[in-house]
Amino acid sequence: MRPIRQDEEAPGTGLLMAKSVMAAAIIVAAIFTTFVLLIESKQRTNTEQRIQETFEGFSELTSWSASTWINDRILETTLLAETYASHYDNSNPLEMFANGQRPDYMSYWYVAEVDNGSFHIWPEQDLDGYDASTRPWYKAAVEKGEAIITEPYVSWTGEVNYSVAVPVYKEDRLIAVIGTDYLIDYVADHITSALPSDLGHLFVVDSTGRIIADRHDENIFKSVSEVYGDRAQISSRMQRVDVGGLSQLISFRKIEGLSGLDWYMGVAIDEEAAYRPLQEFRFYAILATAIAVVLMITVLGFVVNRTLASPLGKARRAAEAANVAKSEFLANMSHEIRTPMNGVLGMAEVLGQTDLDERQVEYVETIERSGTALLAIINDILDFSKFEAGKMHFEDEPFDLRMLIDDVASLLAGQARDKGIELVVGYAPALPTRVRGDMGRVRQIVTNLCGNAVKFTEKGHVLINVTGDCRNGTFEARIDVTDTGIGIPPEQLDRIFEEFTQAESSTTRRYGGTGLGLAISRRLAHAMGGEITAMSTLGAGSTFTVHMPLPLSEEAEVAASRPVTSLEGKRVLGIDDLSINRMILEEQFRYWQADFVVAESGTKGLGMLRAAAEEGRPFDLVILDLQMPEMDGIGVLRAIRHHDALKDTPVVILSSLDADQLAKEARELGVSKFLVKPAKSAALLDAALSVIADGPAPSLAPAPVASEPRPVWTPASAGSGDQIRVLLAEDNEVNRMVITSMLQGSGCVLSYAEDGQQALDQYKAGIFDVVLMDVSMPVMDGTEATKKLRAYEAETGMTSVPVIALTAHAMSGDRERFLASGMTDYLSKPIRREHLISAISRALGDEELLRYAS
Ligand code: ADP
Repeated sequence: MRPIRQDEEAPGTGLLMAKSVMAAAIIVAAIFTTFVLLIESKQRTNTEQRIQETFEGFSELTSWSASTWINDRILETTLLAETYASHYDNSNPLEMFANGQRPDYMSYWYVAEVDNGSFHIWPEQDLDGYDASTRPWYKAAVEKGEAIITEPYVSWTGEVNYSVAVPVYKEDRLIAVIGTDYLIDYVADHITSALPSDLGHLFVVDSTGRIIADRHDENIFKSVSEVYGDRAQISSRMQRVDVGGLSQLISFRKIEGLSGLDWYMGVAIDEEAAYRPLQEFRFYAILATAIAVVLMITVLGFVVNRTLASPLGKARRAAEAANVAKSEFLANMSHEIRTPMNGVLGMAEVLGQTDLDERQVEYVETIERSGTALLAIINDILDFSKFEAGKMHFEDEPFDLRMLIDDVASLLAGQARDKGIELVVGYAPALPTRVRGDMGRVRQIVTNLCGNAVKFTEKGHVLINVTGDCRNGTFEARIDVTDTGIGIPPEQLDRIFEEFTQAESSTTRRYGGTGLGLAISRRLAHAMGGEITAMSTLGAGSTFTVHMPLPLSEEAEVAASRPVTSLEGKRVLGIDDLSINRMILEEQFRYWQADFVVAESGTKGLGMLRAAAEEGRPFDLVILDLQMPEMDGIGVLRAIRHHDALKDTPVVILSSLDADQLAKEARELGVSKFLVKPAKSAALLDAALSVIADGPAPSLAPAPVASEPRPVWTPASAGSGDQIRVLLAEDNEVNRMVITSMLQGSGCVLSYAEDGQQALDQYKAGIFDVVLMDVSMPVMDGTEATKKLRAYEAETGMTSVPVIALTAHAMSGDRERFLASGMTDYLSKPIRREHLISAISRALGDEELLRYAS
């Protein structure tokens, strides 16, 4: 058994709190993240701008300072040249060089004199055979006629130098070339100090693309592409390059003002260092977000818990307690109402069996009808409340669906007959019948739909048709209940499934009902994994369809795959004016492998019978409907019996009228089987087999038929003439009277006990065939008494007596409780005579008693 809650379970307060706090935390995190992303994007733009500015600013500044430095050196050498020129006429113009103070950044200074071709260098060097006029600096200076600067070169000392050379003229005659070698390191020092070293560095590139000044000595005289990769170009564009796994941004700018030299200032910025502040910002932003979320969860969690979750939890617990109280109240109310109802209905039934005049019979029937209706309403409301209280439980037991449908049909057959409508069951024989599920609840749904169909149909028929297919061990059953009744207006079609709703209030008054049936049926269907839908045409009829997955019971497949073969080859004619009936008969008989044909009227049927006889292939059996237009069943039967070739044909009558007069007539016309529609398929097969086996019916001989007045039941088991000793334990006097009257004439002899203890004492003192045990009794209740009784039997080695519980408790779980205490069966109050008798006969295995009950 599994409890089913109709409504989605309300979330627990803990869950509710967690959800709201989580939602708030997500909002805070989202706000923070958006904020951080915004700021970060702004910061990134700023950083990029800063880098750009750094490029612009530093390269401009440093290229200016580099060019200034180099120009100063040119000026320096030019000054030397001018000094030399002014001292030229003196005795020793070279003296000033020899005594002059040479700065650190200067490697050498030197003079190449034109007149005597001599070359002087400071600090002095031994330069034997050195011809200055062949040197590039000399030539360039002479050629240009003004100061020149050479590309850097590695001097013989291994240092990187560049030279400045200035030609000296005396009255337009070249008298000497003055030169100075400068260390390029000083240019490098000069420029690289300009950029903060954590951001990156500056370097100088000559016109051939070689790095000539760089803080990193290892880069000197390497080409730009060697250091910064092949993609690096000498351009002012900002380029992203990869140096030893580090991303760097590089850019170049021409150093202006260097006479005749194409030197470039390079800037390399370490990207990670440049963006470091941004990364730091991101780190702190994430930290701040996390702290905010934690704070949020703590504070909000506390507030929500105090103001919402805790009071809600209390309210919830209170509501649950109220629900439990409500369902207990319902159980009690149901008990309290059923007990007096038992009295009312039982006494009315008993009263109905006494000598009454016509008016009194009508009154009694009204009491019974109203009582039954009231009981149905109580049951509906009880079901409804069970759903509301989440106390609806479902059994999982094997049952026979075909039998269930047949049972429902027979239950409603009387009502249908009274209204003159045909009740037809279609259940393809090849479909499985053994399934698992809650039989009672499935029956309740089908009964409700069929009850409605019969209730709202004035003429025509009601068809219960079962179809479906098997998938993965489950029978996906589809039960259609179709009627030709008043129909439902389209706008009401959905509403009728709501509680307390009826298609029209005027309908209600005419037809009665609470408007709960369909609502409960649909809820039941949903809870069992199924669905109910409706289609209807106003004035033409409705079809309610139940889809219900029912797991196949073990024997199901075997049963389905084993058709009965005993009608094999038999020629059967079905005569019925209603096409649905013909279809269903055909399906059944074909399944039983009979050679089945149909006729839609008596005249046609007779024609076919005659033709078949003439061909020498007479029919083995006729299934005959009684109510037909033109020629009715009795007419057809009479014609058969008066026809020489046909008179011995076995006939089974299928009638929707259970009228004694008709049955009598049929019997006189030699019909051995008279079945009332809707006939259970097993009964139909039985009837067909037995009349074929018995051969031709004894013509015009009286034969027993089902509608014959029932034989009076002779008391005691198996008709032995013994009496059945019944011990009735019941504290309520009216109920004792009711049960006594119900069993009057049934051959039962009753002894009474007014409580459990008395029942036990009496049982020990006497001999009983069956015990009827009320459950709620003073002193000792029924379950307790049954337990003690079973213990006594075990002690003394007695055979155990059947104990039938009589209970007004209709709550689920009761059945298990009763059976666990040792009871063999139980009847729910108000008790009906037929139920009581069939329970006793079941307990004793006494078929005779059953016939009496029906
Ligand atoms: P009730 O107890 O009133 O029958 P139900 O829930 O079973 O309650 O049905 C609700 C309403 O739906 C009925 O009152 C009726 O108006 C409509 N209805 C149900 N079944 C049929 C049907 N087969 N034909 C026409 N109307 C129907």
